Amino acid sequence: MRLILLGPPGAGKGTQAQRIVEKHGIPQLSTGDMLRAAVAAQTDVGKRAKEVMDAGQLVSDDIVNAIVSERIDAPDCARGFILDGYPRTLVQADAVDAMLRSKGQALDVAIELAVDDSAMVGRILRRAEETKAAGGSVRKDDNADVYADRLRAYYKSTAPLIGYYYAKGKLKTVDGMAEMDTVTAEIEKVLSAL
Ligand code: AMP
Repeated sequence: MRLILLGPPGAGKGTQAQRIVEKHGIPQLSTGDMLRAAVAAQTDVGKRAKEVMDAGQLVSDDIVNAIVSERIDAPDCARGFILDGYPRTLVQADAVDAMLRSKGQALDVAIELAVDDSAMVGRILRRAEETKAAGGSVRKDDNADVYADRLRAYYKSTAPLIGYYYAKGKLKTVDGMAEMDTVTAEIEKVLSAL
């Protein structure tokens, strides 16, 4: 099963991806997590990505496409994977299509978590507070100022993917404003119908 979770930052993609991992035993491929790991490890990619990420802008398509292309070749992806936060541009969407086609594979579904984005900044700030309370380090881009830029990047570059997957007959939309467990159940319905 190969699926994409789509939605603005704070929509719950990471949380729902984790639940799919637990239930279906396929890995979550979060380009945000991979990039943060590269930044922490101060790799070349991390050094190039850091400022862009801190500013809430998108890292270049070439960088993220290369990261994903390598990752989906790993043995744990053989049965499928969940793409969380990727693709985020039409160029990335075409790239992942081509990567999969070259392996004789295809995406099964793109699930959009539809949310009221005026509520998202509150979620992001809560996430930051909870992380801090638990003694974790808060993401540098989880604050109201950078959130506005992340949301703009979402509408400019990522929201067009909703039309892209709709046109391919791959889009399913789930109400991301519902209770977390309800969202999980709705996603399960989509997955079990595949
Ligand atoms: P996320 O954890 O998905 O919110 O991503 C955090 C940041 O990493 C984003 O604001 C971007 O700067 C960068 N990023 C993550 N995934 C991508 C992607 N697919 N394309 C470009 N930039 C990305």
